[in-house]
Amino acid sequence: MPYTQHSRSFQENRYVYPVLSRRSKGISVGINLNPDKVCNFNCIYCQVERNQEKGTDLFSLDGKINLSPFPGDIPRISRELKETLDLVKTGRIFSLPPFDKIPAKLRHLSDIAISGDGEPTMVPCFYKVIEEILKVREGCYGDIKVVLITNASGLNRPKVQDALDILYQNNGEVWAKLDAGSDACYRRTSRTRIPFGDIVRNLIATAQRHPIVIQSCFNRINNQPPQGEEIEHYCQLLKRLTVRGGRVRLVQIYTAARPPAEDDVTPLSEDELNFIAGKVQEIASLPSETYP
Ligand code: SF4
Repeated sequence: MPYTQHSRSFQENRYVYPVLSRRSKGISVGINLNPDKVCNFNCIYCQVERNQEKGTDLFSLDGKINLSPFPGDIPRISRELKETLDLVKTGRIFSLPPFDKIPAKLRHLSDIAISGDGEPTMVPCFYKVIEEILKVREGCYGDIKVVLITNASGLNRPKVQDALDILYQNNGEVWAKLDAGSDACYRRTSRTRIPFGDIVRNLIATAQRHPIVIQSCFNRINNQPPQGEEIEHYCQLLKRLTVRGGRVRLVQIYTAARPPAEDDVTPLSEDELNFIAGKVQEIASLPSETYP
């Protein structure tokens, strides 16, 4: 089963799906908190197939945005999560295609990942969902890590901060997106109305409170790799995060592994990713991993 196969559909489930994850080196049970495929970013490399036209602002379409899950959906999330964790725990999942192709050394649960076809912290009942996920994990896989994958835009919300507190008390961690070091590059890559300054402030404040992982996606655009100056700005920003007392456990540097939103976005080579990782070490003195 290749890492490029990353479907968020599994059986009859609406929210929960298992995948073979390259960054967690095993099975990651994902919880898609945005099954309606609405995001407040519109990243050029996004691999979510949206119903909307490419390049449109996803929050401005005729006001009919349906941000499920609603509180009434929480029992369903809970049931789907229990059933999927049980499939992995008993090993039954490895008799089902395409999981039957996974090599023996990767046949283990690495984490539960809260992510989705949009930004999970935008969900109104985010705190309640986190509480429920932790409850299910306790009864099924008590010690497994729970990761929140976020674009950092909602990390300043009080209820999200409360949710992060209980997450960190229970072997949880935030993996937050940072794909740029300058406002211009951020706007070109993320295509959102949310100011870059807000994202940076949220990252610093969260990292001051809890150690975080930074996830950065770099690509070739119109056949051009990221400019040296932009990489410098990005590394300086990482450094600023730590100088301001933020804790960054790891920087994950990756590139589009599946067909992205825009055709002129293509993956970087392993050498190009390693070059960025070297700069992260040299300028920001932070550990990093690359995922070609
Ligand atoms: S934040 Fe994530 S889901 Fe949203 S557009 Fe960017 S890559 Fe896609």
